Amino acid sequence: MSKIEYKSFVVGFPRIGEQRELKRALESFWDGNKSFEDVKKVAHELKKRHWNYQKDTKIEFISSNDFSLYDNMLDTSIMLGAIPKRFRELKDEALYFSMARGDSKRVAMEMTKWFNTNYHFIVPELSIDDEYKLDASKILEEYNEAKDLGLKTKINLIGPLTYLGLSKRVDGGDPYELHSKIITIYENLLREISLLDDEVVVQIDEPIFAKDNNSKLLSLIKPTYDRLANSNKNIKIIVMTYFEHSCEATNILIHTPIWALGLDFLHGDENLNSLGSLANSNKKVIAGVVDGRNIWKINIEKTLTLLEQIAQIVGRDNIFVSSSCSLLHIPFSLKYEQNMDSDIKNWLSYACEKLDEIALISKLFFDSALDTKENLALQKNKIANSSRKTSTLIHDKTVQERVKNFTKYQRNGAFAERIKLQKELLGYKDLATTTIGSFPQTPEIRKARNDFKNTLISSDEYELFMKKYIDNCIAFQEECGLEVLVHGEPERNDMVEYFGEQLRGYGFSQNGWVQSYGSRCVKPPFIYGDISRPKPMTVDWIVYAQSKTNKIMKGMLTGPVTILNWSFVRDDMPRSEVSKQIAVALSDEIDDLQKSNIKIIQVDEAAFKEGYPLRDKKIKIYEEWAIRDFKIAVSSAKEETQIHTHMCYSEFNDIIKTIEAMDADVISIETARSGNRLLKIFKSVGYKQEVGPGIYDIHSPRVPSIEEMIKQIKSLLEVLPKEQLWINPDCGLKTRKWEEVKPSLKNMVAAVHIVRDELVHQ
Ligand code: GLN
Ligand code: ZN
Repeated sequence: MSKIEYKSFVVGFPRIGEQRELKRALESFWDGNKSFEDVKKVAHELKKRHWNYQKDTKIEFISSNDFSLYDNMLDTSIMLGAIPKRFRELKDEALYFSMARGDSKRVAMEMTKWFNTNYHFIVPELSIDDEYKLDASKILEEYNEAKDLGLKTKINLIGPLTYLGLSKRVDGGDPYELHSKIITIYENLLREISLLDDEVVVQIDEPIFAKDNNSKLLSLIKPTYDRLANSNKNIKIIVMTYFEHSCEATNILIHTPIWALGLDFLHGDENLNSLGSLANSNKKVIAGVVDGRNIWKINIEKTLTLLEQIAQIVGRDNIFVSSSCSLLHIPFSLKYEQNMDSDIKNWLSYACEKLDEIALISKLFFDSALDTKENLALQKNKIANSSRKTSTLIHDKTVQERVKNFTKYQRNGAFAERIKLQKELLGYKDLATTTIGSFPQTPEIRKARNDFKNTLISSDEYELFMKKYIDNCIAFQEECGLEVLVHGEPERNDMVEYFGEQLRGYGFSQNGWVQSYGSRCVKPPFIYGDISRPKPMTVDWIVYAQSKTNKIMKGMLTGPVTILNWSFVRDDMPRSEVSKQIAVALSDEIDDLQKSNIKIIQVDEAAFKEGYPLRDKKIKIYEEWAIRDFKIAVSSAKEETQIHTHMCYSEFNDIIKTIEAMDADVISIETARSGNRLLKIFKSVGYKQEVGPGIYDIHSPRVPSIEEMIKQIKSLLEVLPKEQLWINPDCGLKTRKWEEVKPSLKNMVAAVHIVRDELVHQ
């Protein structure tokens, strides 16, 4: 390794490209408009550019193998030869993309969220009779690709324990039973890596150490890293952890021959506590002090203080200044944010700007003699941070006072009384039919929204267009015989962005794309200031829709916790406080809706579960404020106003008491793929509120038959009584086509009628 000057370190870098070049290349390849060679060319250019950005910013430790054409966990499965049976006749890119996305003959592998991020990985499918076989080609090639450009990289790998911990066994066993087979492949891989150069640094990511782990996993840490770190003299092993503290693993790893340990000091403040044991171990510490999960400019003084604290324990010479995790989770560069308010932009820092921060901090920390340019950067940083403390864009006394003094933590009336009133007033039948909110988002609607945004059509034209869509939605729902109607959400591009755009304190980026999975990116809005609602956000649309039907029109809002979890959140205030501000704003919206005679209001909490902390110790606190804020949001609802909520998942076993405590009158959930298995928990805890278990899977284009849905409804009736059940699809219909939605909903309503008849004649 060349002489280390600043010991600056980046865990990993985004790969989709500053203009989403990789997305475009992949999608045209999938559409048959580009060859795989073209994709590889784009990939090479991107890697080269990304390496150069890091090199030019004087980052000392730059990664290879942080790039991926789809996902690093999938790459690891390929590296190990962990190929599920159905894909084994395929090769190369056909194999790779078929595992990721499926093909006409094979279903894709499952995808799930990477810890508490919004990045999704491909879940490995393992089985006891798998024979693993090393394929090191991607890793070796990427290393040499960088080397040919004159760069010596560290090699990033996903660690064996994290890999296994996130795998599923298709034959039902424990993935850790495959440990010794897998470790052998990792050993073979390290042997190949050791031939690459005189000395190679390998970063092995083990974020699973940041969770509460069972003794089985903990007992595997020492044997694993004794073996991996001992096998090659010229390899230096870094074990990298992030997103939380990993104190238990630290205390084990100090007794292994690894060279360095990566710790996230921002999201795992307890990591400081376990540093004492590291102090005498002569290991290097990769100090994650620049936030890889958020987009705020660093506070230099605070960061230096933290580094000094670390240095006091482990010694300055043992420290590397690093991002807290891969920069994959934040957007690429601020340079494309041309429309943003300049004050706000000045508070932000995306991946490229974080590189500068890492370099500057490490310069300051190791060698305080700054050159003119660095001094200027330091001054600018101070000014930006101090303006954040006082700016009226951020601080709104009225909001702060109101939220502080907000005491209505609960709506009036207990559920048992409320539901009696509601049933009487609303007069819906048992097994009442409804949908989750959105109807198909056609290319025409998207165009109308874009045209309006770009002022190509007037607001009158836009309104007319949307109203026509709402009219059609209502006409269809009436024709189909649905009982509680929705307006269809044509005006919403996204269930968080739509509200964010209307709330004060919310910012939007032009190019703040973050990879969500494969080629898919999202552009999360960000909360920079105190949140308030200048005017009603949904009332006009819902009132219009209600005026067009005699049936009940359901109002539709996104809940406070979901709005929070799908945004970048300000870091100068606890998340729970921000959430409370959103909740208070939503309570006004609910009040306005009911004053306009809307009788049922749904508050979606699609992301309630994904906000759960990684460490059990913190769960209680999260649940407390998440429940509090849902209840604040609906606290304005009168007893006779029926509050629905919707959640996009199905496993409620761990959180059923929390769900119950939210005190919604009706909850619709995503259980279509599990029959009635997942509903049983509602029965076993004696859940009283009403439940709408999705009876068909909207994630597939398939139209379920009447018979199938009858069967499904009957299986629900085996668990919960008809008085407690609603019948609906398992999520919003916006990603489906009308030709799928129409027959599916007609079949759903027909199935309900048949079941109701049978129940009467029983
Ligand atoms: N009301 C929203 C819709 O139907 C809910 C979507 C969701 O929960 N993801 O689109
Ligand atoms: Zn949903």
